Amino acid sequence: MMADDDKKPKEEVEQLVYDFKCSSCAMEEKAHYKGKNPPFSRNLSLKYPSYVMKDPFSPPGKGEILVLGSDCSVCGISICINKECSFFYLKMYCIPCALNLNETFPIEVKSKLLQIKK
Ligand SMILES: [Zn+2]
Ligand SMILES: [Zn+2]
Repeated sequence: MMADDDKKPKEEVEQLVYDFKCSSCAMEEKAHYKGKNPPFSRNLSLKYPSYVMKDPFSPPGKGEILVLGSDCSVCGISICINKECSFFYLKMYCIPCALNLNETFPIEVKSKLLQIKK
């Protein structure tokens, strides 16, 4: 009996969908947002602009999100958050770019990176 309808903003805003594809491992997923403050998750802001998808397993209205990946801050390719594909130090890097910049990173970051590389 409650007039619940006017409380809910209708989702008429056009949903942009990005085809996210990791350039490194070829993981493909639909992203609903790219940036730092996903509109469907209120109390969350990300450290860097990311491709974000709504968590399909999260109950509606919960605003759970999955971060898929990001763009490399150097070469701009899309990379997923898999640690074999991307490296985060202040910015997001793809592994080849991170390795290129290796010498400019602090020693502890560098050793972390070299562990990933194997
Ligand atoms: Zn990947
Ligand atoms: Zn790169």
